[in-house]
Amino acid sequence: MPADTDLAKQNDELIRFTNVTKSFGDNTVLDDLCFSVRPGRHVTLIGPSGSGKTTILRLLMTLASPDSGTIDVNGGRLFPADEKERREVRKKIGMVFQQFNLFPNMTVLRNITEAPVRVLGLSKDEAEERARELLDLVGLADRADARPSQLSGGQQQRVAIARALAMRPQVLLLDEVTSALDPELVAGVLDVLRDIARTTDITMLCVTHEMNFARDISDEVLMFDAGKVIESGPPEKIFSEPEHERTREFLSAVL
Ligand code: ADP
Repeated sequence: MPADTDLAKQNDELIRFTNVTKSFGDNTVLDDLCFSVRPGRHVTLIGPSGSGKTTILRLLMTLASPDSGTIDVNGGRLFPADEKERREVRKKIGMVFQQFNLFPNMTVLRNITEAPVRVLGLSKDEAEERARELLDLVGLADRADARPSQLSGGQQQRVAIARALAMRPQVLLLDEVTSALDPELVAGVLDVLRDIARTTDITMLCVTHEMNFARDISDEVLMFDAGKVIESGPPEKIFSEPEHERTREFLSAVL
């Protein structure tokens, strides 16, 4: 096992980015980025649009690859790694997207059971039992047989959260999960996420513009600018006494 993976384990880190660089053409989106997340922590990534936050989540989902640097998750290597190793490590990670991305031709229940049956090898009965528990958790126990198109955006997003949790990930990535919703539907989704944060030991990495939610849910806030973490700390500190001028400017624009 490579030495810095050992180091990550030793330091009780679930996620570690070490010197990660990612460019699109001559646009350097992540610039020699280093940060780590301990197990069970709820970490929010904030910063101006284009500062690389979504790219970090996409790397963790292996939807993109870094140009250089290493990414470790749960003592395994995600990058650089061979396909087999990467697939194993990737199984620990679930993501909820801005645009729900539910399968439109499947019922709510089937949306949730599909991957556990196909990827984890659960029996249909096991997967359905777990799916019904999760639907209960997100307040949709009575909508198991509906199609996504019969649900509101907020309900669809709650199904997407249940679907991500059905894979029993250690890490849940949340990318602007309320920004496509009508304002009156936002609170219901955030309440579900607060509940999950409070009642499970899942590690959360969250990109959001909902600063009140970030303040509530986070153990730690990372402020990004131009592909680097320029400041980090508990929400009380970052929101009330930011040290960096860029953090102050950003917060005064969004709060
Ligand atoms: P944030 O989430 O902080 O708004 P992103 O990670 O989405 O930032 O994007 C950072 C930068 O990377 C932006 O300038 C964006 O245009 C660029 N970018 C992201 N994905 C791609 C891509 N697939 N091709 C080209 N440029 C991209």
